[in-house]
Amino acid sequence: MRRKEVMRKYYDQATKLMSRPSFSDVMDEVEELYKDKSLEELYDVIHSVGRFVRLPDTVVWHIAKPTAMKHAVRMADRGCPRSKRNCDLADDKCCCRKSR
Ligand SMILES: [Zn+2]
Repeated sequence: MRRKEVMRKYYDQATKLMSRPSFSDVMDEVEELYKDKSLEELYDVIHSVGRFVRLPDTVVWHIAKPTAMKHAVRMADRGCPRSKRNCDLADDKCCCRKSR
């Protein structure tokens, strides 16, 4: 398999663990974009809006590639799609531990 296909599979695993964002999760991302005004935050907003309106994973993968890839890489590295900081903060309540 090519790397792109491998990462796409990891992204599938990541979205299975991450629940659909709530409206307030989306607004948190918008607030981060407002503070940061970075391209990375912009893709985070697109990613969370895409999942909020239930776009298929494949579509979200393509329109928010940098964010989707970030989750895929985390999934490949640590078996958790969230940042290490958030995973540690959530502890037993993190999505990566709940499903085990
Ligand atoms: Zn985790």
